Amino acid sequence: MSGAGRDRAALGARAQAMIEALAAISAEEGALTRLYLTPEHRRAADLVAGWMQDAGLSVRMDNAGTVRGGQPAGRPGRNANKTLLVGSHIDTVVDAGRYDGNLGVVAGILAVEEFHRRGISLPFGVDLLAFGDEEGVRFPVTLTSSSVVAGIFDERALDVTDAAGITLRDALVAFGCDPARLKDDAYPRAGVLGYLEVHIEQGPVLERENRPLASVSAIASQNRHVVRIRGQAGHAGTVPMALRQDALAAAAELIVAAEAIARRDKGNSLVATVGQIEVKPGAPNVIPAEARFSLDIRAANDAARVEAFQEFRLAARRVDTTRHVVVGIETVMEKPVAACAPSLQKAIGAAIGKVTGRAGQSLMSGAGHDGQAMAQLTDFGMIFVRCRAGISHNPREFVTVEDMGAAVEALVATIEELARE
Ligand SMILES: [Zn+2]
Repeated sequence: MSGAGRDRAALGARAQAMIEALAAISAEEGALTRLYLTPEHRRAADLVAGWMQDAGLSVRMDNAGTVRGGQPAGRPGRNANKTLLVGSHIDTVVDAGRYDGNLGVVAGILAVEEFHRRGISLPFGVDLLAFGDEEGVRFPVTLTSSSVVAGIFDERALDVTDAAGITLRDALVAFGCDPARLKDDAYPRAGVLGYLEVHIEQGPVLERENRPLASVSAIASQNRHVVRIRGQAGHAGTVPMALRQDALAAAAELIVAAEAIARRDKGNSLVATVGQIEVKPGAPNVIPAEARFSLDIRAANDAARVEAFQEFRLAARRVDTTRHVVVGIETVMEKPVAACAPSLQKAIGAAIGKVTGRAGQSLMSGAGHDGQAMAQLTDFGMIFVRCRAGISHNPREFVTVEDMGAAVEALVATIEELARE
């Protein structure tokens, strides 16, 4: 094995060991579940803080529970007063995979170690960030930690509650954070150079194209709606078909309409998903009086997403009239496209080319990431890592040791590119 090959294998093996150590910290035995501001989150944060300290960084936890390990610029230059942010998240979904989020945090720590090992000093400061709430599982809000870092946190979110009725505010206090000081934890815009994140692809494209890594072009625009349909309950045996106001049949028509709208998209990036449905009263011999379903629409550009939603509303109006039901649509979340900065895409592309021999095309991220919040603060760039069969949010999530080694090397090479400028 060449020297470079040995380095990559060693980095991959280190990453694997750290991923396993983190995966052992869970609320459930035999499965990985680590939600925001829980005792498991605390233990994972402590482990990560220890690793950052061992890497020579000065470490603190901010008031949203984000672990921050930093080092100042190692040499003079025009960006000596600026800081490059590198991060990802250590919270997980329920019964999660071990690489989602965690790999990005581990990669940042290994990259800093690598610079120290090689005796390379950087002309800007580096802060590693281990966010605690990317997934938004415990509370009905997402990207809490990165929103605080980016200075866009909406304080009204402090009053949301988890399933046990605990407010986000109380959970923060119990974690040792001070919700009144969240504002102080935002980075000043002028002091930040950019934000980099390594993350598994969570989709099948890299595996299909036989590439270990890709630069991300943008995080898809996304909106989420709740569609409520009110019909009329009735006896399943006595109400003639022509006289029914069946809420579920109306919902079925709209679900198929959403699918058809997304399939017609010429740009091929539009996706529409109904993943949740509730029917009332929910008895086999009663015509459904009420149906409620979620609708998630994403696309590579905001115009395609907005247009698809308009089309869906027209379909809803049609169903409303033809089926004599009342359709209401509430938009509960709307996130515009977050585009990766061209300069960072270029640096990442060059780094991936150096590490893998070919850079290939950038990928769009259909999944949401902390970069959506960070984009409000600074330029951001992402390195996607191939994962087996594109499986994620699932214990079967898997990344090879070799690909993890390549990911760390690509992050190191990207930071070197930025240091050259
Ligand atoms: Zn993630």
